[in-house]
Amino acid sequence: MVINKRFYIIILSVIVLTGFLATSLIGYFVAKDSLTERLQQEMLPLTSDNIYSEIQRDLLQPLLISSLMANDVFVFDWVNNGEKDATKMTSYLAQIQKKYNTITSFFISEKSRLYYHPTGVLKKVSEANEDESWYFEAKKSHHPYVINIDRDTADQRRLSIFVNYRIEDKSNNFIGIIGVGLALQSVVELIENYQKRYGREIYFVNRQGEVMLRSSQYQSELHTKNKAALDKAFVKILTSPSASFSLKTENGSTLYLNSRLVPEFDWYLIVEQVNDPSSDRIETAFIINMTVALVISVIVLLLAHIAVRGYHERLESMATQDKLTGATSRQVFEFYFKQAVSRCRRRDESLTLVLLDIDLFKLINDNYGHQAGDLVLTRIAQLIKSHVREEDIVCRWGGEEFLLLLAGCDLERARGITEIIRAAVAGLQFHFNNHVVRVTISAGLAEMQQSEAFAQVVERADHHLYEAKHAGRNCIKPDGESDVASGLQRAG
Ligand code: GH3
Ligand code: MG
Ligand code: MG
Repeated sequence: MVINKRFYIIILSVIVLTGFLATSLIGYFVAKDSLTERLQQEMLPLTSDNIYSEIQRDLLQPLLISSLMANDVFVFDWVNNGEKDATKMTSYLAQIQKKYNTITSFFISEKSRLYYHPTGVLKKVSEANEDESWYFEAKKSHHPYVINIDRDTADQRRLSIFVNYRIEDKSNNFIGIIGVGLALQSVVELIENYQKRYGREIYFVNRQGEVMLRSSQYQSELHTKNKAALDKAFVKILTSPSASFSLKTENGSTLYLNSRLVPEFDWYLIVEQVNDPSSDRIETAFIINMTVALVISVIVLLLAHIAVRGYHERLESMATQDKLTGATSRQVFEFYFKQAVSRCRRRDESLTLVLLDIDLFKLINDNYGHQAGDLVLTRIAQLIKSHVREEDIVCRWGGEEFLLLLAGCDLERARGITEIIRAAVAGLQFHFNNHVVRVTISAGLAEMQQSEAFAQVVERADHHLYEAKHAGRNCIKPDGESDVASGLQRAG
C-alpha cells in the first residue's frame, strides 16, 4: 500500500508536470514563431515602407520648386539675353531660397558653365572636376531631373538632397541645370525614432555596399563582428529590389533583415533588428508560466497526498478497528501479539492474554433487543479500555468476547487488572424498558510461556474462560488454578 501510494504520487507528479511543461513550451514556441513571422513579414517591411513614403514626401516639395524654376520664363529670357546681369539671376535664386526655406538654390548655364548661387557666381563647372560630375550626369540623363544626395560634411547624420532639374527650350536644346537643395530632416528623425523605440537599426547602403546614412546609435560593432554573414547577406540585398531574411549572429541571437531599393537615391534602405524586445517578454511569460505551473503542481500534489493519506488511514482503521466498539479487530491482533512478544523477549518481560466473555449475553438481546445488546458491548469495551494502559491491546475477539494483550504484565498483575475490570462491569447499570439491567463477565488468563505459539496461549485462555463459566460465571480463572481443566469442554 505504501509503495502503491508513492508510485501513485510519482505518476501523478510526472503527468501534471509533463502536461504543464508541454503546454507552456508549445505556447512559448508558437508565440516565438508568430513573433518572428510578424517581425519578418510585417514589422520590418512596414518600417521600411514608412521611411520610404517619408522620403517620397520630403522629395515632393523640392521637386515641385525645381520644376517651377525649370519652366520659369524669366530663366529662359535671361539666358537668351546672354546672361547679362548676373545679379538678376542671383537675386532670383535668393528669392526662391527665402520663399521656400531651402538650404540652397542654384543654376548652371550650359552655355557659360557658370554656377549661379544666391550669394553670387561661385565657379565654373568643369568635366575634369570629379565633384562636379553630377552636372554632367544630369545633362546626359533621359529623365527630367536627377536627384543627388549629400551628407553634410559637418554633421554626417544630416542628409541634404539636391534636385538637379534639366532646362530645355522648345526645340529640346539643353539650356542648363536648375534646382534647390533641402534637408531630409524627417527621414533622419524617423530613423532615430525607430532606433530608440524598437532598437531597430536603419541605414542606407549604396550599390557598392557602403553605408551612406545611418542613425546616431548605429552599432558598427555588430557589423564588424558578423562581417562574414553580413557580406553574404549583402550579396542577396544588392541583387534584388527587396529582400527579407534572418541570420544568426556570432553570439547566438538572430538578426532579422529587410531591404528595399530606394530608386530616387539609388540606395538600399536596410532595416534590421536583433531579437525583438517582445521576445524577452515571451521568455518572461514562459518563466512565469512555469513558476505558476510548478506552484499549482505542488498544491495539486499536496492535496492528492492529503486525500490519499486520508483514504489510506480510513481504510487502515476500517481493517484494524471494530466498527461497533472501536476495539482492535481480530485480523490484526496476531500482528500486534508478535510485535509484543519480541519486545517482551528483548526486555525479558512477561506477557499475559486475557479472554473476557459477557455472561448470558444472549438474554440481553432476547429480552431487550439487539440495540440494547450493542450498547452493552460498547460500554463494556469502553470500560475495559479505561482500565488498561494506552499500549495494551483490547481486541474484539468474537461476538461478546474481548481478548486483552497485556505486555510486560505477569499473571498476578494481569489477574489484578482483570479483577478490577470484572468488578467494574458488575457495578454497571443499564436501563432498558424501565428495567435496571446488570451484566457480568467471566475471564480466562494465560501467561505466555517460552517458545509457545500464539494459538496455544489463546487456547489456554479460552480454556480458563470455560472454567470460569463452569465455576458459575462472574469470575476469573488464570493459569495454574485449574484442577478440572482436562475434563471440561468449551461452553460459551
Ligand atoms: P455465556 O454466559 O455462556 O457466554 O452465554 P451467552 O449468552 O453470552 O453466550 P452465547 O454464545 O450463547 O451468546 C452470545 C450472543 O451474543 C449470541 C449473539 O447473538 C450475540 N451477539 C454476538 N455479536 C453481537 C453483536 O454484535 N451485537 C449484539 N447485540 N449481539 C451479539
Ligand atoms: Mg457470553
Ligand atoms: Mg461467547
